[in-house]
Amino acid sequence: MWFRRDLRSDDNAALYHALKSCRQVFCVFVLDRDILGVLPRADRRVEFIRESLVDLDGQLKRLTDANRRADGGLIVLHGSAGITVPELAHALSVNAVFANHDDEPRSLARDILVAETLATAGRSFHTFKDHVIFERQEVLTQTGKPYSVFTPYKNAWLKKVDDFYLQSYAVQRHAAALAGRPEAYRAATPELSGFGFVASNLADLKIPTGSTGGQHLLDDFVPRMDQYHATRDFPAIKGPSYLGVHLRFGTVSIRALATTALKLQQRGSEGAAVWLSELIWRDFYAQILSNFPHVVAAAFKPDYDSIQWEQGPGAQALFQAWCDGRTGYPLVDAAMAQINQTGYMHNRLRMVTASFLVKDLGIDWRWGEAYFARQLNDFDLSANNGGWQWASSSGCDAQPYFRIFNPVSQSERFDADGKFIRKYLPQLARLPGTTIHSPWLASPAELAAAGVELGRNYPFPLVKHEEARARTLQRYAPVKKPG
Ligand code: FAD
Repeated sequence: MWFRRDLRSDDNAALYHALKSCRQVFCVFVLDRDILGVLPRADRRVEFIRESLVDLDGQLKRLTDANRRADGGLIVLHGSAGITVPELAHALSVNAVFANHDDEPRSLARDILVAETLATAGRSFHTFKDHVIFERQEVLTQTGKPYSVFTPYKNAWLKKVDDFYLQSYAVQRHAAALAGRPEAYRAATPELSGFGFVASNLADLKIPTGSTGGQHLLDDFVPRMDQYHATRDFPAIKGPSYLGVHLRFGTVSIRALATTALKLQQRGSEGAAVWLSELIWRDFYAQILSNFPHVVAAAFKPDYDSIQWEQGPGAQALFQAWCDGRTGYPLVDAAMAQINQTGYMHNRLRMVTASFLVKDLGIDWRWGEAYFARQLNDFDLSANNGGWQWASSSGCDAQPYFRIFNPVSQSERFDADGKFIRKYLPQLARLPGTTIHSPWLASPAELAAAGVELGRNYPFPLVKHEEARARTLQRYAPVKKPG
């Protein structure tokens, strides 16, 4: 059993099928040089994975012990997964390798290579759906095409879902097939330094890791789920679940989450219905990536590729100011401070900052997408690409190009008393009342009393929103439909 983005033993499709159909099952995770090689040496995601592997190793040991077998646990190797997995399969003389689907284009290419190498040696490679409720072409329109509009997709999803798709895989029942690890593979999960990394601030942030951490966050969220629809848009309120990173690395089961949400929805919970919709957005974007893989590099709607974005040193400087949270718009800057310091950004703020980069600064959405991919703990290619193409209007079912968020009114609406801004921009904390949303409108006396000196400890706005808006409407002219 080769674990990848499914770091749990409970309700794991591939693990279940391996245990059910094989006499002896070894469990392995590869710290993949091809993925890790390009990351900074301190990366919260790498630390999250490492801590979650320790948790998974403990779960597998307990399952093996319960079946009176010695030396159970997870084999953790460091190498290029495409080579390391077939080598391990050979060393352990196994007949087959089991894994769960990973539909990102690079992962699919790796898996084809692995399947071919295994097949050459007479071994089979079996893969299963685990990461989503419905994948690939499971939910299609009446004409047999993939959906590209969310609401009809959601309706079809809700119509199709039933106990069969939600039932948990009974791993424990078949756990007697878990094998002990041969002596050469009994090493403990390596420390970060063992594969070239150093600690990030993950521990300081107290982000819970592993299945244990995922369950803890779920237990914390379930009593709040009823209120999700009312609280989810306000970044200073504990509204969302914060489960994104756990869904990304599979330390929670999507089937368990969807089951919980559906049950509460059926009991009339509006919050649960809205949260379930978000889980369906996740499936929606996963099937978009799978059926329209061109979105990785290009606009979903091809005519949007003719838009001319800002280029050259001026654009680079604007982009850098956005990355650093130096735009002069407090809500945007506080949001960028949140992602830079914690690896999390509230969903409302992902929409606001993405819109600001693309529609106020005129920067190619792909630059922002790549920055989020480096920073987000829950970075997921399909959801991130979907979110950026939504904000830039180039995506399927995106917001129309002429809908341009006003960063000040978004701030007044969703962080009315400036609590979120004050947390992440302490230099503005003493600004009174509504001046926090647009410090350049504060009087010199108000600025002085709050210790704010524009251009010194907080920037002037990089652009005037109304002028930027006019430029954006011009920029999007090529996609205007006649009439
Ligand atoms: P909750 O509000 O508790 O939602 C529960 C789960 O539903 C999330 O964890 C996530 O798995 C899923 N979900 C929620 N909203 C969406 C959505 N719009 N699209 C797809 N799935 C959704 N989500 C990611 O998981 N990874 C990303 O890389 C990512 N990048 C984004 C980039 C942009 C520009 C935008 C606008 C959105 C992005 N999202 C991404 C979607 C959303 O912002 C996050 O899923 C959410 O903020 C994560 O916080 P949470 O776990 O507390 O979410």
